[in-house]
Amino acid sequence: MSRILLSPSRYIQGAGAISELGVHAARLGNSVFVIGGKTAMSICGAAIEASLRANSISCSQEIFQGVSSRKEIGRLAGLARSQSADIIIALGGGASIDAAKAVSHEMDLPVIVVPTTAATDAPCSALSVVYTEDGVFDSYLFLRKNPDCVLVDTTIVASSPAKFLVAGMGDAVAGFWESATCARSGKTNSFSGGQTPTLAVLALSRLCYETLLGSGHQAKLAVERKMVTPAVEAIVEANTLLSGLSSENGGHAGAHSIHNGLTTLPATSAKLHGEKVAFGLLAQLVLEGRPLSDIREVQAFCLSVGLPICLEELNLPNPSQEEIRRVAETAVAEGETIHATWFAVTAEMVEAAIWTADALGLDFKKSRQS
Ligand SMILES: [Zn+2]
Repeated sequence: MSRILLSPSRYIQGAGAISELGVHAARLGNSVFVIGGKTAMSICGAAIEASLRANSISCSQEIFQGVSSRKEIGRLAGLARSQSADIIIALGGGASIDAAKAVSHEMDLPVIVVPTTAATDAPCSALSVVYTEDGVFDSYLFLRKNPDCVLVDTTIVASSPAKFLVAGMGDAVAGFWESATCARSGKTNSFSGGQTPTLAVLALSRLCYETLLGSGHQAKLAVERKMVTPAVEAIVEANTLLSGLSSENGGHAGAHSIHNGLTTLPATSAKLHGEKVAFGLLAQLVLEGRPLSDIREVQAFCLSVGLPICLEELNLPNPSQEEIRRVAETAVAEGETIHATWFAVTAEMVEAAIWTADALGLDFKKSRQS
């Protein structure tokens, strides 16, 4: 079986990097259509326009309406067409990036992604999530290519609430273990079209994990004070580039499926994607029979940055047996990535793993307090 590496064509990161946007856009075209959320546009819109104009690129901007639905993608594509845009800029957090990447796919135009948080590994991928107009998951849109450019200004990321950086670490920490599961089972990776990851990806995935453990706590404290330090630069790269390459090429496993199960409980809706993925990872480690030393290592990391290690930290102080059974059943639905595990996984096994991960989390917190 052949190996594959999917990645964005260019990745730029640094404090004040938004001022370089025009230089990179000039390689791709001369008329930009910026799609961004209201807050992101108010923070970055003027700086983006200034950088583009300095490079003789025309610019029009449109506020993303909040849901990456087929209707919204169609509306934005219509506007971009009427402006004769030849480059799309995706500005903001997860949903606006999903919508703008889908617009670029539909119009067959290059896309530059400018994330304003480091909350997920979505910016680098050749995938958009499409929702119904009510905001319910609809489908994955597999794009022809990864973004032409991903540009992250760490000053902007560091000025957004620290909870986003922390959630991004939850998504990223799972990547190492999920790709390890896929590598062990040898099952093919749906994101990369059924091929296996290169050695480069396996090495980057480990680097991502080591960076999180080494710099996560420091980075969180710095961002709480809106500061950019070397640790913040390291964690932004881990959350955005390293985690993106790891999950897109290495594959997902139990953590993301258990996350999907947790989303069926309304009480967890206030929790971010990466927070649910972090607890999903702890349950995955129990499910896979990993040694306690591995579980303790991940728990200690989660505790140091403020990621949940037990159910009460996911707004589930007293879940019923039925609720956890529903989470487990959703996690093992057909097509779920938990089936990338190297043995057959049942709902009963996942249920046992969730309760045990919760008990181990409570036990670990108690041992830290005494
Ligand atoms: Zn994720």
